[in-house]
Amino acid sequence: MANQDDQFKKVVSHAKEYGFVFQSSEIYDGLSAVYDYAQNGVELKKNIREYWWKAMVQMHENIVGLDASIFMHPTTWKASGHVDAFNDPLIDNKDSKKRYRADVLIEDYVAKLDDKIEKELVKAAKRFGDSFDSVQFLATNPRVIGYKEKGEAILKRMGKSLGEENLTDVKALIEELEIACPLTGSRNWTEVKQFNLMFGTKIGASADTSMDLYLRPETAQGIFVNFSNVQKSGRMKIPFGIAQTGKAFRNEIVARQFIFRMREFEQMELQFFVRPGTQKEWYEKWKQTRLKWHLSLGLGKENYRFHDHDKLAHYADAAADIEFKFPFGFKELEGIHSRTDFDLASHEKFSGKKLQYFDPELNEHYIPYVVETSLGLDRMFLAVFSNSLQEEELENGTMRTVLRLPAVLAPTKAAILPLLKKDGLPEIARKIMEDLKWDFNVDYDEKDAVGRRYRRQDAVGTPFCITVDHETLADDTVTIRYRDTMAQKRVKISELGDIIREEVDVKKWLMKM
Ligand code: ATP
Repeated sequence: MANQDDQFKKVVSHAKEYGFVFQSSEIYDGLSAVYDYAQNGVELKKNIREYWWKAMVQMHENIVGLDASIFMHPTTWKASGHVDAFNDPLIDNKDSKKRYRADVLIEDYVAKLDDKIEKELVKAAKRFGDSFDSVQFLATNPRVIGYKEKGEAILKRMGKSLGEENLTDVKALIEELEIACPLTGSRNWTEVKQFNLMFGTKIGASADTSMDLYLRPETAQGIFVNFSNVQKSGRMKIPFGIAQTGKAFRNEIVARQFIFRMREFEQMELQFFVRPGTQKEWYEKWKQTRLKWHLSLGLGKENYRFHDHDKLAHYADAAADIEFKFPFGFKELEGIHSRTDFDLASHEKFSGKKLQYFDPELNEHYIPYVVETSLGLDRMFLAVFSNSLQEEELENGTMRTVLRLPAVLAPTKAAILPLLKKDGLPEIARKIMEDLKWDFNVDYDEKDAVGRRYRRQDAVGTPFCITVDHETLADDTVTIRYRDTMAQKRVKISELGDIIREEVDVKKWLMKM
């Protein structure tokens, strides 16, 4: 655990030190669970957004984009169920005065059972050596089976109790499992209460004409209320999708995990409209398609898993998370939900406007069913960033910190470094930069010894360093250094564009899907 904590602390401090993520309003001691993206962070975030947008919108002729407003008519949130049901169960510890999400306390307890299974696995692998069959071990070892069954039973009971709003049983479960305040070990808990996560605000100048609004807690509803407009103006035929990226706001009860859980964050969502009855098929298809998108970035297959939900939201007939192995364990990265016709039917009821589709093949009108894929951009940033941050020992015994970002997402694609600040080398380096910057985000650095400059670029994840030296003056060649292998090659200046493009081209990466 200490190790995980250390690793996570390194991630947070590296993000600050190298201009990726700062605490919001830091000079006023910050605002809890609100963050700003700095010079490198904003580029990485933009590249992740673009990588998603290209895969979802550009590569699908039946998916179009949308940019809906953050403010929406307040009835939207009555229709969507958020006013009544967008709650988290909270519980306070009477001794430590710390507030927790009751479901998270229980889920963390189950995660510890998963850790125990992992430990049994490591122990057994050591004991049995080469002949060890991990699949068989997991399926037959009585202790592992015990942990697994216990975890499943707990999650099932919690899902049922939350679904039935039986908060007394959620508290009883916490007591039966003897869950203690993680900070103090106290088991002196209050009752479990529901807490609505929406931020309220007002629109309009005077008290009597102003209207109460909410900051949107998800981008999805902006898509649903525009369904008919987009379908008609785009002459879209089912199945089709509307994709959107944008800010969402939630007054999270506990927000202690850096950009994993923020009060202001960004979502990248697809709502895919399908014929009723076909939703299961599309749900399965989108689960696989989204996983492939993640895998295309090469962060390691073993770092992802699906988690199928027992506890279904009021709008869903099936739901799963793609979980990622963050420095603090496997946690939700993306949600895939089969939302039925709940949203469109409800907006139809509340607005009195028809939100139906005429299916020419069936010759009938119906309210489409919806499959949603919803990815948190900031969480994706954290997944990529934390996974890429590595420390390695070099052959000469020194350590290097390297941010092995997928090159397609790297904030800066190449740094141009004159070996010395004289003899015309800076002029050539600048000329190379002027040329490359039309196509790539590039950086120029002439300060300090070249070795230190390499390390600086490694730390921000720049895939290439291009060094201009005296040989360049004679034959128009430069040294290109690869971030991951530190290999160096002599190449012609005229070849640089192609070499960089080869590594950072979105097409090359998305073709892996
Ligand atoms: P959680 O269970 O972690 O609170 P959720 O199930 O409420 O998440 P969804 O409503 O399905 O999340 O939102 C879709 C995605 O939006 C999540 O998978 C996550 O990546 C992102 N997300 C949700 N809440 C936050 C938050 N507070 N900060 C950052 N990202 C978030």
